[in-house]
Amino acid sequence: MRTIIEPFKIKVVEPIRMTTREEREKILKDAHYNPFLIHAKDVLIDLLTDSGTAAMSSKQWAGVMEGDESYAGSQSFYRFERVLKELTGFHYIIPTHQGRAAEKILFHIAVRTNGSEQQVIPNNTHFDTTRANIEYVGAKAVDLPCEEGRKPSLRKPFKGNMDLEKLENFIREEGVPKIPLVMVTITNNSNGGQPVSMENLKGVRGITNRYKIPFFLDAARFAENAYFIKLREPGYENKSVEAIAQEIFHLADGCTMSAKKDGLANMGGFLGLNSRAWAQKARSLLILTEGFPTYGGLSGRDLEALAQGFKEVLEEDYLKYRIRSIEYFGEKLVAMGVPIVEPPGGHAIYIDAKAFLPHIPPLEYPGQALVNELYVAAGIRAVEIGSVMFGKADTPADMELVRLAFPRRVYTQSHVDYIVEAMEEIVKYKKKLQGVQITQQEPIMRHFTAHFEPL
Ligand SMILES: *Cc1c(COP(=O)(O)O)cnc(C)c1O
Repeated sequence: MRTIIEPFKIKVVEPIRMTTREEREKILKDAHYNPFLIHAKDVLIDLLTDSGTAAMSSKQWAGVMEGDESYAGSQSFYRFERVLKELTGFHYIIPTHQGRAAEKILFHIAVRTNGSEQQVIPNNTHFDTTRANIEYVGAKAVDLPCEEGRKPSLRKPFKGNMDLEKLENFIREEGVPKIPLVMVTITNNSNGGQPVSMENLKGVRGITNRYKIPFFLDAARFAENAYFIKLREPGYENKSVEAIAQEIFHLADGCTMSAKKDGLANMGGFLGLNSRAWAQKARSLLILTEGFPTYGGLSGRDLEALAQGFKEVLEEDYLKYRIRSIEYFGEKLVAMGVPIVEPPGGHAIYIDAKAFLPHIPPLEYPGQALVNELYVAAGIRAVEIGSVMFGKADTPADMELVRLAFPRRVYTQSHVDYIVEAMEEIVKYKKKLQGVQITQQEPIMRHFTAHFEPL
């Protein structure tokens, strides 16, 4: 059969409140033309993020009931720890309430602040919270993505890779003492959710071994990355995704992870470590800000849901549905001439709003114009990743993208077809769309709270 069905039946439903175009015009106006400020109940299809928005399975909900809420030594923690040790091979599994808490602890331990020289941490592309946590402890975050990753319309299998030549030159120039660790983000979220190949990860391991630098993964979407390796990398087609994921983790000395993505749950994260000395320091910091080492900011029921989620996320029927539904959406957009980042990544479609709306200059925010039109026309919530998010007063960002991120196991094909239809309509009148101006903003992270007015 060619049709790939959602590999689940729906057992619990959350009704979507239907709205009319007129209602949405008023809602968006009241939200100052910033969909971040819209109440979720006023959204029909919410593609703002894939973080913490997954639907849990009946086994996960059963686990929630089993949750052992003991402060110390909870059974739920031991189950969580066992699943993650089997998956990652790391000696120490330290639970945190989400990914950024693991980052904060890792960089506090790894970055030396008493030397005279500023320390630097390279990554294929740092995620925003990773970068912010590195800068917070006084170090510098450096991105070393491969050249292919910089070209949105280029179709290549592993555009999330790190540039190995640049990494080696970087280590030689900066010197080993300045580099506390090298990080690789799988999949490369800030660069279109593009995967990293096993060959590239092995390359990073080889270089970091040569220079004796610890190698860490930012593993938020490890299962999606492992599935792309199975689909696209020669030699892996007959391996299980679980075995590929294990191989990835075994290359590294540790990881941070936001379990709000491939943990298939709504909250959680962890820090994985092999170093005993680092684990001891990490647990002290954990107690200071997150909690005792057998819960780390999570309740027993969260730990149970995650332990089960880490197993389900490696089921290949699930991953096939997941990756195919995003690819399907991407194909429909390309067929109607909408420019997107190609090939589609693991968790989202990124529309190139600069190319889609060439009549709107970057500082009139074409991405925001499209985001707002998606909401008014069809009740779809997406997010601008362009000059609103990354630009400064008179300087636009490099790219004007609109991200439509898909929550895991939440929407069906007819939801996707509805979004496709909305885009078909918008394509017909896109020349009439106007930009926006910012009327109120905060000095940092302005996209969350800015107010706009249509021009
Ligand atoms: C979401 C994310 C983080 C941060 O995790 P939170 O759980 O949101 O704190 C870090 N890195 C990547 C790649 C992410 O996608």
